[in-house]
Amino acid sequence: QKWTARKIRQSFLDFFEARKHDIVPSAPIVLKGDPTLMFTNAGMNQFKDYFLGNDTPKNTRVTDTQKCLRVSGKHNDLEEVGHDTYHHTMFEMLGNWSFGDYFKTEAIEWAWTLLTEVYGLDKDRLYVTVFEGDKEDELEKDQDSFNNWKKFTAEDRILNGNKKDNFWEMGASGPCGPSSEIHIDLRNDDERAKVDARTLVNMDHPQVVEIWNLVFIEFNRKADGSLEKLPAKHVDTGMGFERLCMALQGKQSNYDTDVFTPLIAKIENLSGIAYGKDEQQTIAIRVIADHVRAVAFAIADGQLPSNTGAGYVIRRILRRAIRYGFSYLNMKEAFIYQLVEILAEQMGEFFPEIQSQKQLVEKVIHEEENSFLRTLEQGLSRLDQIIAETDGKMVEGAKVFELYDTFGFPPDLTGLILSEQGYSYNQKGYDTEMTSQKERARSAGKLDTGDWVTLKDDEKEEFIGYDYTSAQVSITRYRKV
Ligand code: ATP
Ligand code: MG
Ligand code: MG
Ligand code: MG
Repeated sequence: QKWTARKIRQSFLDFFEARKHDIVPSAPIVLKGDPTLMFTNAGMNQFKDYFLGNDTPKNTRVTDTQKCLRVSGKHNDLEEVGHDTYHHTMFEMLGNWSFGDYFKTEAIEWAWTLLTEVYGLDKDRLYVTVFEGDKEDELEKDQDSFNNWKKFTAEDRILNGNKKDNFWEMGASGPCGPSSEIHIDLRNDDERAKVDARTLVNMDHPQVVEIWNLVFIEFNRKADGSLEKLPAKHVDTGMGFERLCMALQGKQSNYDTDVFTPLIAKIENLSGIAYGKDEQQTIAIRVIADHVRAVAFAIADGQLPSNTGAGYVIRRILRRAIRYGFSYLNMKEAFIYQLVEILAEQMGEFFPEIQSQKQLVEKVIHEEENSFLRTLEQGLSRLDQIIAETDGKMVEGAKVFELYDTFGFPPDLTGLILSEQGYSYNQKGYDTEMTSQKERARSAGKLDTGDWVTLKDDEKEEFIGYDYTSAQVSITRYRKV
């Protein structure tokens, strides 16, 4: 194979090194000492202080591949993972940065050159977006980016993007600026002839995907919400490594690239179930192949599963994988720990921590699997009792909540097992219990320990972000409107 994952990663770094960038290591996936963020979720995290002007970089140009985790806060892709083929919990983000050095002209030219000349991607499959402007902020369309793209591609491949997709902000205040994103159409010719790719960009189509985000930091948002021009302009880019592998390896799913195929082969081997046959089993295999990477890298970086904070999020990711294996692959014994070996072989060369911490990672995952499988068993026997106590075919929602509350037995799993036996449960009753438990916790001043918080429609508050501290998982911050 011409473009192995290894070669794709290295070519990116080499390309920018040849353009005077320092290659720097990935920051740990788990952040210690940053109260605003629990996990690294973008390449720029470790460079934040350069943008804020709190620190001065050694070199004004750097490049790296960053281990990212998007399972909490504003970027939470967990629910998508496994169900789609291009969002992961843990992924690598390739990036290049300019700290007050080059700006749009070079960033756009280099991105285009790398994708089309070095990697040889088909120009006719690429579409780019530029910020369309915004009335509220009195910003014009990002004409500079538009003009730069025009040097390389036809005008009708340069699409307008709105504030949500094409204006990046570090937070409610601070550095921000327009972004320009590159999308690729990987559909086959028939489908390309049928539907214009332009209508699919930013529409969550699995084969028309965003691969690279170029952010041009040129403003500072002040506390009063107004924008001022920054004295120094910066470039912050992030490209999804696994998606790039999909494009270069001619695949239609990240899971069909060599980043994932060895893990999937091992899961097939351990479970005796083939990938790509039954839909639910295929999703389960994707979930496990994805989650083991997130959990293994988190542990290797020092974050053990636990009952609070970041550790609890890691525990829940692992439990999600165990549960998918248990329910859909019939894996009643620990097995995920056996995938660490494969991961270490595959990734150890570039990320030596996964090799050096291998035994610890295996041991921790193995223990977690054993203990959660016991919980699942206890929950199952309580569920049998509940079924025996039920008249008719409808189980009380409160009992399903009890299972969740005392055994950590997830309601979707309960629902699944019930439906296998011709039963269902009262969702309303479950929701009522859940709501009143949340209210009890709130009035007792306790913090929500869920790893995601959803806003109800009737809450007249505007979401502005999440805060994190090590002692808690998440508190949503709201600004009254
Ligand atoms: P998407 O719209 O696909 O969710 P995004 O706009 O949230 O992506 P960015 O924050 O712009 O992503 O991150 C830069 C790049 O990282 C994206 O262009 C994409 O290639 C990649 N990426 C983002 N989220 C994920 C993920 N969960 N798994 C794999 N790659 C991702
Ligand atoms: Mg996203
Ligand atoms: Mg996007
Ligand atoms: Mg993006």
